[in-house]
Amino acid sequence: MHSSARNRVALVTGGSRGIGRAIALRLAHDGFDLGMCYAADTAAAEEVGKRAVELGRRVHVRKADVSDAAAVRTLVEETAAELGPICAVVTAAGITRDKPLALMPDEHWNAVLRVNLDGVYNVCRAVVSDMMERRSGAIVNVSSIAGVHGNAMQTNYAASKAGIIGFTKSLAKETGRYGVRANVVAPGFIETDMTAVLPEKIVSRVRQQIPLSRLGRPDEVANLVSFLLSEQASYVTGAVFHADGGMVL
Ligand code: NAP
Repeated sequence: MHSSARNRVALVTGGSRGIGRAIALRLAHDGFDLGMCYAADTAAAEEVGKRAVELGRRVHVRKADVSDAAAVRTLVEETAAELGPICAVVTAAGITRDKPLALMPDEHWNAVLRVNLDGVYNVCRAVVSDMMERRSGAIVNVSSIAGVHGNAMQTNYAASKAGIIGFTKSLAKETGRYGVRANVVAPGFIETDMTAVLPEKIVSRVRQQIPLSRLGRPDEVANLVSFLLSEQASYVTGAVFHADGGMVL
């Protein structure tokens, strides 16, 4: 357990599955009490909450759509009321709706921007004042290598993930003097439900582009997030960290 995490509260969005789930469990293991939200999969979210309780943590798990600003404000208020001030935030909730731009339905564009980018705004907006007042806080927003280098069929997703990078760098500049750090983690191809839908032909082509010759695991992203939220990263802010097996060099 990080000694700095004892009795501290972390909020993780999209904690029910995949990368967010691994981050939630890693932070619980690190000693954080855990606020968490998800979109639909109540059984998966409850399982994560149960495992955090088994690790001795207090948890507050709620269904809350990150694109809904009012729902996010309620989530943040309830989490702080139940567990205490939120000192660590990870925005892992995200979706894809892949299409070539020429065929992109407006709904796909809007849905991805609303969840992936508005969602990060809603969460950070809801927590930042309190963090600044307490002169303490660490935020990790989950982007993607698609947001750094682009990806065909993902103009919507790449735009949302690039937006997260500009947003987070700006936030770091605004809040550094108040003791609040904000960083980005940009995963490559990680084995989750999001990538499980990709045809094997594409996955094997991707694997050939990865120097470490394999997809990543959610816990490998969680390790990096855990570090960035810890005191070990006390002089790190406004930075973008790839967890991609060397795919983007
Ligand atoms: P995933 O397995 O599909 O899980 C997505 C998570 O986000 C689930 O917990 C889901 O909740 C939650 N979620 C989706 N929409 C939401 C909303 N509107 N409000 C609240 N929660 C919502 O995805 P993943 O692969 O772990 O991806 C996690 C993050 O990493 C995303 O931001 C993604 O863009 C990013 N990323 C992933 C990869 C990759 O290779 N997997 C690569 C780069 C970046 P439910 O369980 O309730 O549906």
